[in-house]
Amino acid sequence: MALDRDVFEQLIDTTRRFVAERLVPLESEVAENDHMPDELVQEMRELGLFGLSIPQEYGGLGLTVEEEVHVIIELGHTSPAFRSVFGTNTGIGSQGIVIDGTDEQKNKYLPKLASGELIGSFALTEPDSGSDAASLRTMARMDGNEYVLNGTKRYITNAPHAGLFTVMARTDPEIKGSGGISAFLVEAGSAGLTLGTPDKKMGQHGAHVCDVIFEDCRVPADSIIGGKEGQGFKTAMKVLDRGRLTISGGCIGNAQRLIRDSVRYARERKQFGKPIAEFQLVQAMLADCETELYAAKSMVLDAARLKDSGENITKQAAICKYYCSEMVGRVADRAVQIHGGAGYITEYGIERFYRDVRLYRLYEGTSQIQQLIIAREMMKEANSEQ
Ligand SMILES: Cc1cc2nc3c(=O)[nH]c(=O)nc-3n(C[C@H](O)[C@H](O)[C@H](O)COP(=O)(O)OP(=O)(O)OC[C@H]3O[C@@H](n4cnc5c(N)ncnc54)[C@H](O)[C@@H]3O)c2cc1C
Repeated sequence: MALDRDVFEQLIDTTRRFVAERLVPLESEVAENDHMPDELVQEMRELGLFGLSIPQEYGGLGLTVEEEVHVIIELGHTSPAFRSVFGTNTGIGSQGIVIDGTDEQKNKYLPKLASGELIGSFALTEPDSGSDAASLRTMARMDGNEYVLNGTKRYITNAPHAGLFTVMARTDPEIKGSGGISAFLVEAGSAGLTLGTPDKKMGQHGAHVCDVIFEDCRVPADSIIGGKEGQGFKTAMKVLDRGRLTISGGCIGNAQRLIRDSVRYARERKQFGKPIAEFQLVQAMLADCETELYAAKSMVLDAARLKDSGENITKQAAICKYYCSEMVGRVADRAVQIHGGAGYITEYGIERFYRDVRLYRLYEGTSQIQQLIIAREMMKEANSEQ
């Protein structure tokens, strides 16, 4: 455990109250206005949410993966757009530095990421390179003691608010695959770095993505994470392993919220003279939700403990992300069904969750990519057993 038991329970309790008292009442307003109130972001900073996974020596809470998953599950009891505000700081926008950064990089950036003074973004995807991330085309050419970056990154979460980008770029054009890729730390405001207009999305309104464009953008040579060329793709994959477990935590929290709302509605709504909760076909939908939720939670906590004990969890992280993101999609679909027409009407918020959770199956590796990773790891295991 990173935190003393009492302190951790206090954190869970404070998070639960923050979600219920501050976030849930603002869900529809944030979604309608596609805007996150500044004072809310400030409260998130004060609660330490930006530093959940950043080591304590750099001002974060330094939670273990298991502890972080528990906090993220609590935060999943409200719209995922709220988690997105600090999600890149605790995940893909900071973990590259935590895992592979030099001491100078850690000292320079982690305290500001942990406090939320700086927003971190992770820029891997490009217009022609999504699932096939290793084919990325953004170039970083050495010139004197600087690198010159050229290329476009697409759908970058929090880019409109970011102060720091972790950018995957090709330093060796001769190596076509992952070995030629390095991870750069690029500060917002660098000459040659511009942002596209924020994209309009299906859901998770209040959270923003846009293109990040590099045109002869010069960065110092020591901006490479870890100071060594060719390591960027490995760094990105390590970052995604942990990220997939926290995304899974978000799926579990969202599923718990949807199930709770569905049970409540089923007990209140009467048809044929009795609550619909008494109909066995409705009960079957609830039972399927609860069963899948239990499986999801069990596997994520197991994988988190394995990760905390130092195991390689690439396969388990992919299994969790695949199962949990698909699970919450099915739960959201049944929640609409249980709510009947009300499930389709904005006022009840169920249709918003239905749209919001759709993203989980796409980003940080689609479901198909998770399947490929799982099978690849299985083949590796089989080969090593021969
Ligand atoms: C809201 C949002 C936020 C995002 N945030 C970030 C971010 O912060 N940073 C970042 O770098 N990226 C981010 N992304 C990008 C996201 O990770 C990619 O969209 C995702 O990885 C899929 O890539 P793609 O969109 O290019 O789809 P494609 O790779 O074109 O895939 C299209 C379809 O083909 C399937 N497919 C592709 N290859 C295979 C294969 N070999 N076998 C079987 N099926 C295959 C896919 O599963 C999918 O169904 C974000 C995306 C969205 C929508």
